[in-house]
Order: sequence, then structure tokens, then C-alpha cells
Amino acid sequence: MRVLKFGGSSLANYECLSKVASLVKSQLKSETLLVLSAPGGMTDSLVELAELAQNSQLFEEQWAALVERSHGLKHQVEQAGFEILNWPDFSQLQQKLSGVALLGLCPDAVKAYVISFGERISVALMQALLVEFKPTYLDATQCISSQGGYLDAVASVSASKGGFKQQMSQAPSKVYIMPGFTASNDKGELTTLGRNGSDYSAAIAAASVEAEVCQIWTDVDGVYSADPRFITKAVKIDNLSYKEAMELSYFGAKVLHPKTILPCAKASVPCEIKNTHNPDSSGSLISDVAGDDKTVKALSSLEDLAMLTVSGPGMKGKVGMASRVFDALAKDDVSIVLITQSSCEFSISFCVHEEDLQLSLIHI
Ligand code: ADP
Ligand code: ASP
Ligand code: MG
Repeated sequence: MRVLKFGGSSLANYECLSKVASLVKSQLKSETLLVLSAPGGMTDSLVELAELAQNSQLFEEQWAALVERSHGLKHQVEQAGFEILNWPDFSQLQQKLSGVALLGLCPDAVKAYVISFGERISVALMQALLVEFKPTYLDATQCISSQGGYLDAVASVSASKGGFKQQMSQAPSKVYIMPGFTASNDKGELTTLGRNGSDYSAAIAAASVEAEVCQIWTDVDGVYSADPRFITKAVKIDNLSYKEAMELSYFGAKVLHPKTILPCAKASVPCEIKNTHNPDSSGSLISDVAGDDKTVKALSSLEDLAMLTVSGPGMKGKVGMASRVFDALAKDDVSIVLITQSSCEFSISFCVHEEDLQLSLIHI
């Protein structure tokens, strides 16, 4: 089994969708599981819709834009002679948004439903384009088990194996297709795996079915020595170890969701990064083969962080200061990204995500 994940940048419009369908056809060597993101930018639109509704602001214009874009894609696929059978229920989405607007509240469970809608659109369109292979739809909420909230859930490979097995045994197929980003909790409710989380879905799927490879198809040739969007001289890295890839993704290399590599590493599934728009490029291979030398391979950066410093002469030699500071933040689930302490012990500095800044300031 091979797992192929296509990101939003590979599914942004009808031309991209057709390109992906042709690519999948040309790649069909063995059993294949496709994991799809929402069409590029659609999740942002859904997040915006949820926020407008929650603030009881009018969202007709944004709703109309979403419907126009989605139905435009549907129409183009149908015009090309394909029948769409699995189109998600827009009226249900609209009802949920209206409910949110009425209450002025958007519970995380509802938000997860709203923001994962785009993945289902991609899957419906791709199922139609690949009709000659009769792709079997895998319900991600039946396959991927997760814990820890509705919006940034953590998936479990051991708990997901049974789900994949059960779903796949219902209709054995050469091609399976599953929406990314989506999972469920132990009550069977829909959860999402954090923004950019379809990479993570693919990794969980690959580890669960013990795939021979997990391919992440995106809009760059592979993992670069820096973000090629900003650094034009960045070069592609052909081979990375799991550890190197993990460090890069945790420190901001958007090409991979940070939680992607661990499931692949634990299951020894090699992970390839490939370019949908340049499939002949060799891509980058992430595996347990260590890099060829010990030089720095790449640089990455994180945005929207805030640095806080706790300092004062009273801190010198005082045992337990650091633990008091971090305990206070841990109680409110504030995640600390980086910590430094001056050697003279007068100050401790640490970085948090900017969205946690106000909460952090209350505690220190
Ligand atoms: P997708 O829609 O396929 O999930 P993303 O936008 O999430 O694509 O990720 C691909 C983007 O990641 C690239 O367009 C690139 O700008 C960015 N990126 C950041 N750091 C790196 C890096 N070190 N190597 C390659 N791409 C990177
Ligand atoms: N569509 C989701 C997002 O934009 C997940 C993904 O693309 O990986 O965050
Ligand atoms: Mg991505």
C-alpha cells in the first residue's frame, strides 16, 4: 500500500484537480490510499465564516463566495463528463452556521465540522475524476481515532489500525480515498487535527496500514534549506533523517505539519516530499538513513511568537523559580516554545505563541 497526500496547493482549481487525477493514474502501481486536503484557501474561508457567524455578523457575501467556488468546481467536473455522487450537504453546513449566528457561540465541535468541510469537497470531486478505478471512500471519522479536543486533536496509530482495517475490508479496492485533517474522538464525534493537519492524517494512515511509503505532494520540489518562498537561493535537500525533518517542521518549515514525522518514524515508513507541478523532480526522502554529514542542512523560522522575561535581583540562587513560572503557565495549557536562562540567574526568558501572550501576562 502507498499513501499519497495532496495538499490544498495541489487542489486549488479544476486544472490542478485534473493534474492530480492524471498523476494518480500514472502512479497506480500497487494499492493506493489518497488523502486529500481542501482546495487551497478554502479552509481559511470556512474559518472566516465560522468567526463571522460567531460574532453574529452578516456572512451572506462570504457564504455566496464559498458556494460559488465549490459549485464552480463541481460544474467543471460535471462538464468534463463525470458524475459527482458524494457531494457534501451544503444545507447542513448553512444550518449550523445559522445556529452559530443565532447563539453568538461556536462550540469547538461545530467549528470542527465547519472547517473540515473543504476536505469533503475535494474528495467528492476526485472520486468523480477517478471513477474508472472505482475509488472506495474511507470515512476519516471511522478510521482515525484521536484525543484531546476538537480542533487540535492528537491521533493514535494503535487506536486507528482497527478503523482502517474495518473500513477497507468493507469494499476492497485498488484505490482508497479519504479526507485529510479529519478524525474522531472516543465518543465518535468529528475532530480536526490542527491547521495544515492533512499531512498528519496521511502519516497516521501510512503507519496504521504499514504502507511502503507516505508521499506528500505539494507545490515545491521537496524540503529546501530554507523556505523557497522567501529565500530564492534555498536548495533542495535530497535526503533527511526523521529527526532532521522533525526538527525543521517543529520550528516552522510549513512544508510538513510538525506531527507528521513521528508516526512515520515509529512505523519505519519512508516519507517523500514531491511536487505535483513538477512530478519528475526526485523530491526529498525522509527516512532512517542519516544524512551524509553533520553540517547544518536547513534553517527555518517561526512567526507570531512573543518573548517574556522574568527578572529581578531576588531570583539569584533561589531554587525553584523556573518551576514556579512554568507551572503557572502549564495550569492554563500555555505551551512554551523556547526557554533561556541567564548564567547569572537574574532572568528567565521564554517564548510563547502570541495568541497565549495575554494569558501568560496574567500569570507572571
Ligand atoms: P500544501 O498545500 O501542499 O499542504 P503548504 O503550503 O502547507 O502546502 O506547504 C508548502 C509550502 O511550505 C511551500 O510552498 C513553501 O513555501 C513552504 N515551506 C516552508 N519551509 C519550507 C522548506 N524548508 N522547504 C520547502 N518548503 C517550505
Ligand atoms: N485544509 C486544512 C488546512 O488548511 C488542512 C490541510 O490543508 O492540511 O489547514
Ligand atoms: Mg500543508
